[in-house]
Amino acid sequence: MATPPAQGGFLVDFDLTDDEMAFDEEVRGFVDDFIRPNLAQWHNERAIPREYWQELGKRGWLLVHKDGDDWVERPMMELAIMYDRISELSPGAGIAVFANNQLGVYAPYTWGSEHIRNRWIEPASRGEKVISFCNTEPSAGSDVKAIQTQAKLDGDEWVITGRKMYITNAVEADALVVSAVTDPLADDPRHGQTLFIIDSDTPGMKVRGLKKIVWEPASLAFIQLDNVRVPEEQVIGDLHGGFDHTMATFTSGRIGVAAMTMGTATGALRLAHQRAKRRKIYGTTLWEIRTKRHEFGDMAIIAEAGRLLYRKAAWLRDNGRDFKMAASMAKLYATEKAKELTMWAAYLHGGSGVLEENRIHRYPLDAWASAMGEGAPEVQRLLIARFFDEWIEQF
Ligand SMILES: Cc1cc2nc3c(=O)[nH]c(=O)nc-3n(C[C@H](O)[C@H](O)[C@H](O)COP(=O)(O)OP(=O)(O)OC[C@H]3O[C@@H](n4cnc5c(N)ncnc54)[C@H](O)[C@@H]3O)c2cc1C
Repeated sequence: MATPPAQGGFLVDFDLTDDEMAFDEEVRGFVDDFIRPNLAQWHNERAIPREYWQELGKRGWLLVHKDGDDWVERPMMELAIMYDRISELSPGAGIAVFANNQLGVYAPYTWGSEHIRNRWIEPASRGEKVISFCNTEPSAGSDVKAIQTQAKLDGDEWVITGRKMYITNAVEADALVVSAVTDPLADDPRHGQTLFIIDSDTPGMKVRGLKKIVWEPASLAFIQLDNVRVPEEQVIGDLHGGFDHTMATFTSGRIGVAAMTMGTATGALRLAHQRAKRRKIYGTTLWEIRTKRHEFGDMAIIAEAGRLLYRKAAWLRDNGRDFKMAASMAKLYATEKAKELTMWAAYLHGGSGVLEENRIHRYPLDAWASAMGEGAPEVQRLLIARFFDEWIEQF
């Protein structure tokens, strides 16, 4: 048998497995029975309650769960299906679980010691601890190597001082994964960063909620760390290896962002479909107007292509194959095209789309927000081009 190309070649079976289909049904049930009836209240309170996490934890959907003494990581395909389905109704609830799972929990689970797994990941897997990932700073976002937060060793404790910005879930988070410079003299700043896990109530930490216009009702915060002392055992993974851990976290996270963004697009498309069938215009309905039908056709292609791209990336990851290029393609396509699709869907609603009570207006904003994290579009294009020489040879 020929060796499959590193980036995956062609898939021939486009069906989800029976288990994945059953999982999808379960997630739809959760969205209808738990999120839908509570969502208005969460929006009014501008907060996601602890029960959300506990319900997800009960189902084993918070990235990992324990089976006896063994840790089980949920396959990326299932996680992606979940982010997609939840985001279809509520991109805010989607980003909340995505950011906890793929950012906050992912790094300490993947590289953390047994102590870290037992103390933070085990309760997090039950929804009893929410964990945020804090990399971005007021002066460093896309340029991860430029972070300024400093950690200095004092005896057997690290003393951390810095500022973190735009941190999802941090208002309610129990613990934060924080990136900091531990070797300011490293010849390359990428070899001088380390990740730490820190309880939110550690002296010296201040978390301030930020008012925002995207991904409601998830929270966003600014974090101040002033001489926060943490023992060495709270280092995640390799000392001075934090940059690589952050990059690897973002790489697999891209599949999740792509999935939640395609869920966002589908949510808008579904509302547009319902609206077009209902809306009477020129003695017919919007749906019956030929040019509108053409537009629906175009939007269906975007929704289908975006879903195929993220599912291919998830499949590659679950099968131990190189998924980096596929993840960037999925993320870039989803975030660029979802902006177009959601704006079109909002516009189709005419004036009614601008009313606060009409949730269609949230989708374009939420699709726009998806583009920023885990690498801006320009970064994705550069990453994709890195694999181009090898990729083109498979055709
Ligand atoms: C709602 C929301 C939630 C977030 N949640 C988190 C979180 O939980 N944890 C966390 O650490 N961060 C989080 N972030 C931060 C997010 O990851 C950053 O906003 C992102 O990395 C971009 O950084 P920046 O905002 O500093 O923008 P910049 O880095 O200043 O980028 C601005 C623009 O510059 C352009 N650009 C960037 N790189 C290149 C390039 N290589 N070539 C050409 N142009 C380029 C892009 O157009 C980009 O949009 C969140 C942000 C938002 C808006």
